[in-house]
Amino acid sequence: MSAGLDVVRPRRGAFWVTDAAGERVSQAYGDRARAEAALARLQRAAQQQDRTCITCRRSFRSDGPHNRMCQRCRASVADDPLAPYRVLTEGRG
Ligand SMILES: [Zn+2]
Repeated sequence: MSAGLDVVRPRRGAFWVTDAAGERVSQAYGDRARAEAALARLQRAAQQQDRTCITCRRSFRSDGPHNRMCQRCRASVADDPLAPYRVLTEGRG
């Protein structure tokens, strides 16, 4: 899940994020907390990919494996508690 990303301190007072190959992939930060925040952003970005919405079948930008429903459908689910189940019966009747 980490995509091989890590925070390193190559010299005193400088932190940055490296990838699995040890290549630097972020700017230099003066403290570890900010470098860790950059690491979290990069890890989220690495998880993002285009997926097909489980409800409407449209392609959308997903935040990760847990995110299978587009924003529009998620908004409609809030109004209709049965919406997540409708896809289960689709095409079986
Ligand atoms: Zn959708």
